[in-house]
Amino acid sequence: MKNRPAPAAPASLSSGTLEAPPNPHDEQWFPDLEGKLPPLDGQEYDLVIAGAGPSGLAVACRVAAAGYRVAIVAPDSLGIWVNNYGVWIDEFESMGLDDCFDTIWDSATVWLNGSEERTLTRPYARVDRPKLKRKLLERCVETGVQFADAKVKDCNNSASDKSVITCSDGRQVSGTFVIDATGHSKALVKYDTARYDPGYQGAYGITVTVKSHPFPVDKMLFMDWRDDHLDGYPELKASNAKLPTFLYAMPFTDTKVFLEETSLVARPIIPFPELKARLDARMKHLGLEVLSIEEEEYCSIPMGGILPELPQRTIGVGGTAGMVHPSTGYMIARVLVGY
Ligand SMILES: Cc1cc2nc3c(=O)[nH]c(=O)nc-3n(C[C@H](O)[C@H](O)[C@H](O)COP(=O)(O)OP(=O)(O)OC[C@H]3O[C@@H](n4cnc5c(N)ncnc54)[C@H](O)[C@@H]3O)c2cc1C
Repeated sequence: MKNRPAPAAPASLSSGTLEAPPNPHDEQWFPDLEGKLPPLDGQEYDLVIAGAGPSGLAVACRVAAAGYRVAIVAPDSLGIWVNNYGVWIDEFESMGLDDCFDTIWDSATVWLNGSEERTLTRPYARVDRPKLKRKLLERCVETGVQFADAKVKDCNNSASDKSVITCSDGRQVSGTFVIDATGHSKALVKYDTARYDPGYQGAYGITVTVKSHPFPVDKMLFMDWRDDHLDGYPELKASNAKLPTFLYAMPFTDTKVFLEETSLVARPIIPFPELKARLDARMKHLGLEVLSIEEEEYCSIPMGGILPELPQRTIGVGGTAGMVHPSTGYMIARVLVGY
């Protein structure tokens, strides 16, 4: 499960006057690129990639730049990326992606308990997703990648020298290699589904406008593990002691902040209503008066994975291949290397 279109505002936060945020899928990021992505020319490809997330686009332009014929099959090549990404800026700068941030914080704070505050003097940023996606799309166009606007349904690997993808619109696309970059949905890679039982990073986040908040705007709050806000909620305090969650906060201005209650890993995932209740208790403790909710994020990242069945001609990459860092869930800087 990934970010979902926001349902109604959570009961505990919807005091009658707050509106549910708009459905993020309605946003248009690239109306100017409509009709400008080169379509398939009907020939065979060296590489066919399923999915146009960060992993699919980065691999596509890297392989096409090396002189190979590459096709991407995805229903949303011009669509929005629903996940919000946070990164350490040195990682992006080293790849020439320093123009793809929308907010930068000079340092990051970690609270381990009531008195222990640690400062990480490593600047952190929120990725400007439209800028990053545009940059990758433009690089794909420059390097000759071709696009099919469809979902992949199936991949036939029975021939020894090529694989054939069947698309949702019935088209077939052949390639010497196929990469599955469909994220956690793993649309093509074959694996033992009965044995796939990952833990999950779970998080519930909201971008809110508030009257005021206590977070310094030059620091992002990387992890706040304190639990004194749960003193008046014995059940939540007990469940938090068993499976702790922390607050991750990005203060954008004195009145706008992204707040996310995060469980690093749990099997099964901590349910979203529990995460919302814990966040609500924190916000009350901090005295936050919410004026509007602008975005809601339901985050569920499989942590750890399973090896693909072997032998197999389809190769997984990114979320499909379980490339997230096994304890933090971070990945985007890793898949973009050499884009
Ligand atoms: C909510 C969330 C927040 C995250 N935050 C961070 C972060 O802050 N920092 C970080 O480093 N990492 C983060 N991650 C981890 C990781 O970086 C992301 O999951 C990242 O989006 C993975 O990129 P991807 O391209 O592999 O997959 P995705 O981004 O999931 O892209 C897969 C694409 O494939 C398409 N697709 C699906 N099925 C099909 C099909 N049948 N045919 C064709 N296309 C298909 C989808 O529409 C999608 O566009 C986050 C993950 C989540 C879920």
